[in-house]
Amino acid sequence: MSENAGLKAKLGLDVFKPLGKPHIRIRPGMEKDSRLKAAVTGCPAGLYTENEKGEVTLAIDGCLECGTCRIACGTDVLDWNYPQGGEGVQFRFG
Ligand code: SF4
Repeated sequence: MSENAGLKAKLGLDVFKPLGKPHIRIRPGMEKDSRLKAAVTGCPAGLYTENEKGEVTLAIDGCLECGTCRIACGTDVLDWNYPQGGEGVQFRFG
């Protein structure tokens, strides 16, 4: 692959094994916590979105397990765990 290949092209090479259950959850009642805004802007896979009510949601499929959101938001806001063995991302030159 060319060094100039875009991020999305590289991420498209990765394989995502289905999750039995989400390995990261926004803790109930924390959907409007201001710390989540760092995850909206910082998640490299773009999995966090903020709606018009200021509530943040997480769509876990495609998670790179990088830990950025855990560092940015903390475990008061997120229930963060790695997936069980055999689930989640398998990197392929991504
Ligand atoms: S671990 Fe990384 S890729 Fe997964 S949701 Fe958090 S910031 Fe996004």
